[in-house]
Amino acid sequence: MRKMFIAGNWKLNKTARETAEFAASLRRALPPAAHTEIAVFPAHTSLAAAVEALRGSSVGVGAQDVAWEDSGAFTGEVSGAMLKEAGCRYVIIGHSERRQLFGETDKAVNRKLAAALRHGLTPIVCVGETLAERDANRTLAVLDWQLKEGLKGFTAEQAAGWVLAYEPVWAIGTGRNATPQQAQEAQAFIRGFLIKQFGQAAEAMRIQYGGSVKPDNAAELLSQPDVDGALVGGASLEVAPFVAIILAAERAGTSRAAAAMNR
Ligand code: PEP
Repeated sequence: MRKMFIAGNWKLNKTARETAEFAASLRRALPPAAHTEIAVFPAHTSLAAAVEALRGSSVGVGAQDVAWEDSGAFTGEVSGAMLKEAGCRYVIIGHSERRQLFGETDKAVNRKLAAALRHGLTPIVCVGETLAERDANRTLAVLDWQLKEGLKGFTAEQAAGWVLAYEPVWAIGTGRNATPQQAQEAQAFIRGFLIKQFGQAAEAMRIQYGGSVKPDNAAELLSQPDVDGALVGGASLEVAPFVAIILAAERAGTSRAAAAMNR
């Protein structure tokens, strides 16, 4: 049974001081969550503060990006070894903002995945279509291409524990989320792709939905069979909505566990 996973992508928000303050409040507000994995993804300069402030809690810390190289003349880059030593467990790879604003390609995603693997970081690999692609009925073809190129060359053993995130670009930061049916259709397709590439191991891989997840739409999205959690941007920047989404995931995870027991 796949455990729910709620991840907060803070993007270019929160200094180290703000991160420490948020983490302290989150720890106070955090409900017991046996069925939900939780992580936050601060900016690189706030990672150490997050790791320190969340030490001993059930909230993990990850980075928003990683260099594909391990060292050398790559100004501005941060390596997997640096992230690991800073206390990161996870890294987001191929977020649509990296693809659209910074020219990140599927080839770069592929190389960054190899870097995450070398350094024992759990990747969250983001894929998703633009509005023009959806309107042209190309959603599944785009997902297929991104997955084929991004995950090329990896084995089931290497991919064990990896997380995918379906993030329709038109739903990110727009307040316009995919319907639960749209999310399920895309995520079932992603699951099918993973099964083709990795076999039965893919049944254990989590697929998050991302795109304007809020407390009032989380429960319905998370009730879908192939929605195993959420990658949350805006609503992860304040403690109350983030905790409300964690609670929705915990309820969905509890129902999944009960259904599994009855099978
Ligand atoms: C994201 O940053 O991955 C995201 C989904 O953002 P938002 O929740 O703000 O749409």
